[in-house]
Amino acid sequence: MLYDISFFFFVIVILLAIMQGLIIDAFGELRDQQESATEKLESSCFICDIGKETFDRLPRGFDIHTTKEHNFANYL
Ligand SMILES: [Zn+2]
Repeated sequence: MLYDISFFFFVIVILLAIMQGLIIDAFGELRDQQESATEKLESSCFICDIGKETFDRLPRGFDIHTTKEHNFANYL
């Protein structure tokens, strides 16, 4: 009986908790990578890699530049 309980505790509970932690960490890392890529796309042009601050000083802003002049869908 003691062997069964100890087996259950070590193998099932601890190993499953470790596996669950690894899976949660992997999803967290994927979410961080996606947020980083989204932030880079929103802060600089994908084509010419000039920052949003530079375009916002010009008459045509960053949104016009990324949707009309350097829309990356046109480069596909
Ligand atoms: Zn550009």
